Amino acid sequence: MGAATDRVLVVGAGPVGLIAALRLADVGIPVTLIEKAAGVSDDLRASTFHPPTLDMLAPYGLTAALEARGLRCPTWQIRMHETGERAVFDLSLIADETDHPYRLQCEQAHLAAVIAERLAGDNSVEILFETELVDLAQDADGVTAILRRDGEDVPLGARWLIGADGGQSAVRRLAGIGFAGDTYPETTVLATTPFAFHDVLDDLSVVNYCWSAEGNFALLQLPGLWRCSLYFDPTLGLEEAVEMERVQAQLRRIHPGEAPFEIHDKRPYRVHQRLAETWRRGRVLLAGDAAHLNSPSGGMGMNGGIHDAFNLTEKLKAVWEGADPDLLDRYERQRRPVAAREILAQADRNRKRMLETDPGRRRELLRDLQAITGDPERARAYLRRSSMLEGLRQAEAAP
Ligand SMILES: Cc1cc2nc3c(=O)[nH]c(=O)nc-3n(C[C@H](O)[C@H](O)[C@H](O)COP(=O)(O)OP(=O)(O)OC[C@H]3O[C@@H](n4cnc5c(N)ncnc54)[C@H](O)[C@@H]3O)c2cc1C
Repeated sequence: MGAATDRVLVVGAGPVGLIAALRLADVGIPVTLIEKAAGVSDDLRASTFHPPTLDMLAPYGLTAALEARGLRCPTWQIRMHETGERAVFDLSLIADETDHPYRLQCEQAHLAAVIAERLAGDNSVEILFETELVDLAQDADGVTAILRRDGEDVPLGARWLIGADGGQSAVRRLAGIGFAGDTYPETTVLATTPFAFHDVLDDLSVVNYCWSAEGNFALLQLPGLWRCSLYFDPTLGLEEAVEMERVQAQLRRIHPGEAPFEIHDKRPYRVHQRLAETWRRGRVLLAGDAAHLNSPSGGMGMNGGIHDAFNLTEKLKAVWEGADPDLLDRYERQRRPVAAREILAQADRNRKRMLETDPGRRRELLRDLQAITGDPERARAYLRRSSMLEGLRQAEAAP
């Protein structure tokens, strides 16, 4: 560490901070990337990469790396568990707009590990693990971050700072930026099992959002595994919900025959819907979960964060090379409304739809969805939004 200010400081080595660091280093901008944990996270989190994200990552060789570790999802569906009735969305309908007309099911931890390895060999990037941002100040020329490392607080100067430090962002708090929104009441558990649901449930896609008599669940396939999103009584605490017997009981509701299911991993979580009031405060910029949090329904949080990182780093490059820093306000004008309309609101609609319990209303919803999938033009419009192409188009069109 040193006092040099001629760098961009990226806080947080999640997918968004890693992509931002990679993009900046790729154009020769010196970057310091700090992460409070000892390494990149291998937590069970995002597993869906949408088509435009795959298009963006391809020139960096990252799409090929993910494909080698993932499973293509050419169709996804919403289905009634008991009857198997379903609406199936076919991504080949958007093949004229993307080189990757499918979702890719691959753990976000693979993306993080591949980029971290790449950056470790890049002279433009200094990665500091076990280093936590604990304070920051800025003036007209730069930012001074206080980093806690080995129990000591050390200052580090940078020209710009990207806060990619997740939902609990210290950067956001220290910059005095509000994060209005709600926390949803439900308690969700994500569990992975090698049990072959595709052998016992007919015509599953790789991604399935399911209504069942007892509630709803999602089944998402990965190589050799199914990820099951299970919803519990909201009055149950996270630790209670994730108890093995409760998870087993929920899985038996999906397929009663198996006892017990082999479970590789499980984690409980609560879901938030929040948007940072501004994404730029002077020389401090927010991206990813630090800027927006949404329900994972539809798989858009990480993808949206990657789209933020691409947009922001393109502008930082121009500013680094002499463009007016006001250009960075366009990042907020382009990405923040898209996060609100296309990510938070769409994820909220997906969540609400799956929470519907009235059988008659569910039938209506399914009929509406089948009317969409039965009409190629409407299906295409639906897929453009759910695959996040529409959000990117709107961002491009913003002033
Ligand atoms: C169960 C689940 C399923 C999901 N599925 C999907 C999906 O399929 N598709 C999708 O697009 N999204 C999905 N998401 C959302 C996705 O996981 C997040 O949007 C994504 O991880 C955000 O990345 P990020 O880099 O912004 O933040 P994070 O991944 O949270 O990374 C932030 C990093 O910053 C570090 N940090 C925090 N504070 C400091 C500090 N003060 N100093 C230094 N480092 C710090 C943290 O240790 C962390 O490593 C899912 C989320 C969950 C919980």
